[in-house]
Amino acid sequence: MGHYLGVINKLLDGSYNSLSTKKKIEIPIEEIIIEESILNVEFNFTKKIFNQKNLILSGKNSYQVFGEKVLASLKKNNVNCEIKILDEYETSKKFAEDLANSLSNYQNIITIGSGSVIDISKFVSSKNNQNLYIFCSSLSAAATTSTVSLLNKGIKESVKSKIPDAIIIDLENLKNAPPRLLRSSLGDVLCRSTCQIDWLTSHLLLNTKYDETPFALQYEDEAFLLKNSKKILQGDYDTLAALSRMTLLNGIAAIIIGSTHAGSMGEHLISHYIDMFMGNQHPNTLHGEQVGVATILISKMQNQFIKNKTLKFNELNIDEKIFQELFGDNLSSKMFEQFKSKYFNADKIEFINDLLEKNWSLFRVKLAKYLLPTDNIIKALVECGACVSNEDLKISGKFFNEAIHNSFLLRDRFSYLDIAHYTKTIQEYLVKE
Ligand SMILES: [Zn+2]
Repeated sequence: MGHYLGVINKLLDGSYNSLSTKKKIEIPIEEIIIEESILNVEFNFTKKIFNQKNLILSGKNSYQVFGEKVLASLKKNNVNCEIKILDEYETSKKFAEDLANSLSNYQNIITIGSGSVIDISKFVSSKNNQNLYIFCSSLSAAATTSTVSLLNKGIKESVKSKIPDAIIIDLENLKNAPPRLLRSSLGDVLCRSTCQIDWLTSHLLLNTKYDETPFALQYEDEAFLLKNSKKILQGDYDTLAALSRMTLLNGIAAIIIGSTHAGSMGEHLISHYIDMFMGNQHPNTLHGEQVGVATILISKMQNQFIKNKTLKFNELNIDEKIFQELFGDNLSSKMFEQFKSKYFNADKIEFINDLLEKNWSLFRVKLAKYLLPTDNIIKALVECGACVSNEDLKISGKFFNEAIHNSFLLRDRFSYLDIAHYTKTIQEYLVKE
């Protein structure tokens, strides 16, 4: 039982019940450690691997800041390892496959890293059927997700990989992480309300699946972070632990519900659009920085619509031509097919308006329960010094507006971006150009 693990303790010992199935939730991760310092921690996983062939796999920078401490703690736990430091690496399938082949004679992989190196390790250990233990050099949602995104012949591919057997976070190390990374982590976790309301609205209007469990796991930490975000950069351990838990819970949410609907909705569509279409104009902003700014926008939309006593959709004329212009010949028909599953044609509009007329007052009450005032999100980001506008991101108003306008075309996920289109109000949310 770790003091800093909070609700994650219940997930590890199997005593947390799903709100939808009422059954105990089981997660495949055996051990999660969040401690002020790992130097005196007795790990469970090391008891299994102390006399095996182990390899530490790390990025150069991560090893520089965290390597010595990890080695010392493994030594105290009687674990010997060889070390491979990746001076250069790329998140391509070819690179990961070659690396996997060269490391197949090890029984266990111990990773020191974040995002990309964790992704590469997940691929390697999955391919070689090795156990995987991760020491997070900074916070990364990649630690708890089962897929990795790798470039295959220039196209991003989501590849099934393995979920780590153990994840270890050292708060003292995290305290020294670059402020920008910590701010970005905050931006990425504050989308609880926008994801929940997008997904619940999709459930109410399109009858798609919904489960409150992954959100309920986050309510307490979110409330704490909204109040205390300024303490993140002061190195306060309780706040850093809450941020760590929310980041891990984001990935665990996908394990519980089998999809990423609890952590990636309208706000993530805008961020994906920026990554897909900005090309060499991309200001190298981080995922969480983009998501934080987009979350503010989606939250404004949600608050506005849910405040209104009525909601009525108009017909939208979307045809394959728009997709061709945006995605080119290769992708457009696939993207259009995907979009059609959430698209309301004339018949469906009539049905949905009937449904809204009868039930919107009831839906509003249901949805309002999970709303956050947008100002609370903005305040939390500002107090931590994080980006809150496209100008902070150094993304032009013109491109940001294009993202706001078009990102609903990217996926079959229904969000308030769609609602803004069906109500012909999307223009109200555009920024100054
Ligand atoms: Zn994210």
